Amino acid sequence: LIQVKGLEKRFKRLEVLRGIDIDIHKGDVVAVIGPSGSGKSTFLRCLNLLEEPTGGQIIFEGTDITSKETNIDVMRQKIGMVFQQFNLFANMTVLDNVMAGPLRVKGMKKDEAEKLALGLLERVGLGDRGSAYPIQLSGGQQQRVAIARALAMQPDVMLFDEPTSALDPEMVREVLDVIRQLADEGMTMVVVTHEMGFAREAASRVLFMDEGVIMEENGPQEFFDHPQNPRLQDFLSKVL
Ligand code: ATP
Ligand code: MG
Repeated sequence: LIQVKGLEKRFKRLEVLRGIDIDIHKGDVVAVIGPSGSGKSTFLRCLNLLEEPTGGQIIFEGTDITSKETNIDVMRQKIGMVFQQFNLFANMTVLDNVMAGPLRVKGMKKDEAEKLALGLLERVGLGDRGSAYPIQLSGGQQQRVAIARALAMQPDVMLFDEPTSALDPEMVREVLDVIRQLADEGMTMVVVTHEMGFAREAASRVLFMDEGVIMEENGPQEFFDHPQNPRLQDFLSKVL
């Protein structure tokens, strides 16, 4: 689904990504862990071209999306993204937040978009909160709305950047449960997370990023039980 080849990203002299190679297949649930500043967010932002790579290629469904000829807006519709900060439209109801993309970007009819949005809110456990405004919801609920909003574009892959880091501990579970349910339904996703339990249980592969490269990659059991790279061993000893 996505092939990343020698991906590089530099901000002036700062080399943040220094050659990332990875193939993401349909149905993969890739967890990305690593220390602060290692380039995890930059990697995700490059995948949907919120950042322009300074080197390498990203082939998405056979199209090189780093090429100048590619229509970025069309590509972005196929890649959903959920951030640490939920970024909902504060002046719009929950339902309108979820409908906005299909209406404005996809040109969907209003009743069709509403049906889709209601179904998605149901799926994230918020079927009865459509008329609320974001400020009236808890952080966990807002993040679930953000997930529904991303899903409303019917993306082929979902990117999550520390989706639970801004949440109070008691709300982490409800958001992870929604993400896990998506994983079980076969959604392809890349999840940057500090939740090691989630990475171990829900991921099909785990990546350790450090200093702009993937230092280690493995199935979750091997990754956590038998880390090879000393830096990963050190990292895990601090977070587990
Ligand atoms: P964290 O765990 O803290 O979220 P991260 O692994 O997501 O860290 P990035 O946010 O990708 O790390 O940042 C990697 C490096 O790139 C950092 O040194 C950061 O300061 C730098 N960086 C990120 N975005 C920019 C930017 N727009 N301009 C300049 N430097 C940037
Ligand atoms: Mg980050």
